[in-house]
Amino acid sequence: MLVANWKMNGSKSLLLEWIEVIGSSLSGDEEQDLIFCPPACYLSIASDLINKRNLNIKLGAQDIDPNLETSLTGGINGSMLRDLGCKYVIIGHSENRANGESNSLVNKKIKSSIKNGLKIIFCIGETFSQRKKRLTHKILTNQITKGLIGIKKLNNVLFAYEPIWSIGTGVIPKNVDLEKNIIFIKNKLRNNFRLKNAKVLYGGSVNPKNITILKKINTIDGFLIGGASQDSKKFIDIVKKTVI
Ligand code: PEP
Repeated sequence: MLVANWKMNGSKSLLLEWIEVIGSSLSGDEEQDLIFCPPACYLSIASDLINKRNLNIKLGAQDIDPNLETSLTGGINGSMLRDLGCKYVIIGHSENRANGESNSLVNKKIKSSIKNGLKIIFCIGETFSQRKKRLTHKILTNQITKGLIGIKKLNNVLFAYEPIWSIGTGVIPKNVDLEKNIIFIKNKLRNNFRLKNAKVLYGGSVNPKNITILKKINTIDGFLIGGASQDSKKFIDIVKKTVI
């Protein structure tokens, strides 16, 4: 599974070029585990282009508004995302958490996504200072348990372990540390939520060079790619090195 998270980047022309290059460079098999998450304003165009070209890429949103109350200027809810062709939604990204998104709001967003038939890419991860204080497992436990309160249907949730100190910095964890944390997350989900086959992705400064090192960790089920996903050539390079 590879997630391309454009964050608040891109333009209409970049989108047209990106989909054109992806569509002509990748096979249907290579496309099938790709989730493309452009900014919300481009979802509709992306959806039309993907359908027109008959591509296998899945479309995902970068966020969801969980409110049922429709008097919310600027809000975009789950049924609108479904209407646009989204299959996935990213929830709990550290950039949104840094802007005040609490674990309880993350929980509401996950519930609302499930209700609307969307699959979830649930982001969790620790800051640099939390890591230094050896609090990583405590933070991950807190994010997982509070984010998933009252949620029974976990098969549609993908987990993205994204150490915040690694996002956009060019620094990636050592494989041994990364593997330990991925295993910790999987064990937590197995023991506390009876989720036997949790899929856990890694996100943080993944690029065409370090992917060859990262993909050696066979407990990782995929990658969430920010910066490098906006450049179609870099993204294709990562896909070709990852998809077998
Ligand atoms: C991200 O946006 O979640 C991310 C991993 O970004 P980058 O790949 O740029 O570090």
